[in-house]
Amino acid sequence: MITNEEIEKYIVRFPIYQYAFLKPSDVEHSEAVRAICKRDCKKYDTNWACPPAVARISKCRARCAGYSDVLLFSTVASTELDEKEKNKRADSKQVHEELTQYIEDYLINSGCRVYTLTSDACSLCPRCTFPHEYCRYPERMHPCIESHGIVITDLAERCSMDYNMGRRLYLWFTMIYYRPATEEELKSDE
Ligand code: SF4
Repeated sequence: MITNEEIEKYIVRFPIYQYAFLKPSDVEHSEAVRAICKRDCKKYDTNWACPPAVARISKCRARCAGYSDVLLFSTVASTELDEKEKNKRADSKQVHEELTQYIEDYLINSGCRVYTLTSDACSLCPRCTFPHEYCRYPERMHPCIESHGIVITDLAERCSMDYNMGRRLYLWFTMIYYRPATEEELKSDE
């Protein structure tokens, strides 16, 4: 199994702001977050990475519990979200997603199986196919952290990580759940 030190050596090449290593049991999954998604988020019921398309909270919790470890990290973006600059938020999300993909690939190539959650809805396609067609890139799509009932502010605080950076800066988060691949899985990769 890859060690935390090996992962640290790899990720320091990226502009990661803060990171922490956790166990799935350290992460709380709250049913109440679903109600907040439904009430307050414009992405609710519009994207395969968001509720209700993702499974029920109990299934999300069970899926996450199937991994042995979690890497939580954040990147910071500096953008004033006025009208002229509103695309910059999307650009910084794309940079965060690309960085996430590199780290995910590194873990897979190191013999792990992974399950990755990131901030916000999936934006890989200009327009999500939800609900009329299947997701175009199910292997690359990262469900939203909150869709799994996780309150990232609470989790970041418990990990001594920043969540609020003031008006001019904001943070993107990723949680990569990982575990060693089984012998059978490694054989099926050959
Ligand atoms: S990959 Fe495309 S179809 Fe799938 S969730 Fe993301 S935006 Fe939607």
